[in-house]
Amino acid sequence: MSKAGNEWMPFYRAVHILEANALKEALELEQIQVRIEKGANPEEGTLSPEEFIEILLLIREQDKKKATMVIESYQQRQGIGWYCSCCGEFNRPHFEVCWRCKHEPGEAAD
Ligand SMILES: [Zn+2]
Repeated sequence: MSKAGNEWMPFYRAVHILEANALKEALELEQIQVRIEKGANPEEGTLSPEEFIEILLLIREQDKKKATMVIESYQQRQGIGWYCSCCGEFNRPHFEVCWRCKHEPGEAAD
């Protein structure tokens, strides 16, 4: 029996396995189930073998909103900048609210 919203969905494409593992930990702390899938990067070219691999984080559809907030705060903490879940704008790490729509990372989007 399958419940709606309980399906696995691709959620985040990590640039590195270390990033993927750190995010998985952060999400699991919030009781969000995470699966990591590795696949070949379809964009073949001059990438090194490490970059060649695509790491995909999968979560349950029902956890999407919560997971988005976890990722936002994680990215802000890491000092790598963060993408606003409201308007999709990229924000520099020291921005405490989205410069475009004033959304606060970690706050639920409407
Ligand atoms: Zn925004």
